[in-house]
Amino acid sequence: MSATFLLRYGEIALKGQNQRYFLDTLVRNVERAVADLGRAEVRLAFGRVLVRTDAGADPAAERLRKVFGVVSLSHVRDVDLNLGAITTAAIEMAEEAIESRPDIASFKVDTRRADKRFPLTSMETSSQVGGAIHTRFPHLRAKMRKPDLLARIEIRDRAYLSTESIPGPGGLPSGTGGRALALISGGIDSPVAAWLTARRGAVITPVHFHSFPFTSERSKEKVMDLCRVLADYAGPLELWVIYFTDIQRMIQLRVPDALRVLVMRRMMMRICDRLAPRVGALAIITGESLGQVASQTLESVSVINAATALPVLRPLIGADKTEIVARAEAIGTYEISIRPYEDCCSLFVPAHPRTLPTLDEVQRAEQGLDAVALVDESLARSECIRISGREAVPSAMNSSA
Ligand code: ATP
Ligand code: MG
Repeated sequence: MSATFLLRYGEIALKGQNQRYFLDTLVRNVERAVADLGRAEVRLAFGRVLVRTDAGADPAAERLRKVFGVVSLSHVRDVDLNLGAITTAAIEMAEEAIESRPDIASFKVDTRRADKRFPLTSMETSSQVGGAIHTRFPHLRAKMRKPDLLARIEIRDRAYLSTESIPGPGGLPSGTGGRALALISGGIDSPVAAWLTARRGAVITPVHFHSFPFTSERSKEKVMDLCRVLADYAGPLELWVIYFTDIQRMIQLRVPDALRVLVMRRMMMRICDRLAPRVGALAIITGESLGQVASQTLESVSVINAATALPVLRPLIGADKTEIVARAEAIGTYEISIRPYEDCCSLFVPAHPRTLPTLDEVQRAEQGLDAVALVDESLARSECIRISGREAVPSAMNSSA
């Protein structure tokens, strides 16, 4: 068994002097994505990434379609750069397509010639190969717009032919965008926010605030499962599970209930402030969406923001819930997110949370807390778990790392 794929990238092509760095990173990420499936050769070929793998086409495609930076990919057949070989391959592929989809009535041949040493232009190639397909399958009619069968020929170091194109996630290769802490709660929003930021090339370090026994072991497993899905795209991750129980207790004891969620969020920010330099993170990502709940009004957001010096990225700030759900389904996190779980923040949610808080009143409400000591203790009791796409191996690393 073996398969060849041609991967197309988008924005990277626009990078000037840095293009090589983006492409080298993309190639490394592609290698990593298929490494455990069998032997693979990955290389650049005239504006595409070429992958030859010993693995089956389906499992390989499943991995490759999740690599950030890949706009689309095709399972290809490659032949020597001569018209006879190209035509033979095109007819064979058309035959296979017709066998699996007998309703095919129209076709189009689309040629891209990146290697101009090939003597025929793109148009000439398309027309020659199209003519041959028509002669072999007279019932097929040529159709330029929305043909049932689109045969693509890419003239590069060799000729690459395909009849299907699988969409990739787009974005930029993981590792080209710095590191950020991604706050993952177990709800629908935060994994989507993390994914969107990771898709822009950032490496994410997921952080989950866990309040055992107020929240169960199951809610931690849920977050680990969400991280496994993210790792399918981004590669292995290091999830920080932060001990949050005592902070919750103290807040419950000392903070007026209308301000509890805000103080809780500010404690999360303070912990992130301390964790970030240890892991080399430059920003915090949350799943907040403007106006969704009381703690997500601009007044609340600014009070929460004031507890950290780091930039807080909120990729979903302008997204509606329906859009977030659709994205979560497409990524594959939705099914996990809707499993029942206890949200550490909903546990103590008051009937009437403040929607228009001021920083002043929140700071006054925090006076009964020794924030520094609480943050210290919380970090000292936290654990770091290495998460890979398919299996999670708890590492010996601790917060003292
Ligand atoms: P989500 O669906 O991501 O839970 P949400 O709309 O329920 O979001 P909130 O519960 O108000 O929002 O939380 C806002 C954001 O704060 C979350 O998107 C997440 O980034 C972060 N957050 C909340 N609770 C936790 C937690 N226990 N651990 C880590 N991050 C959290
Ligand atoms: Mg939530």
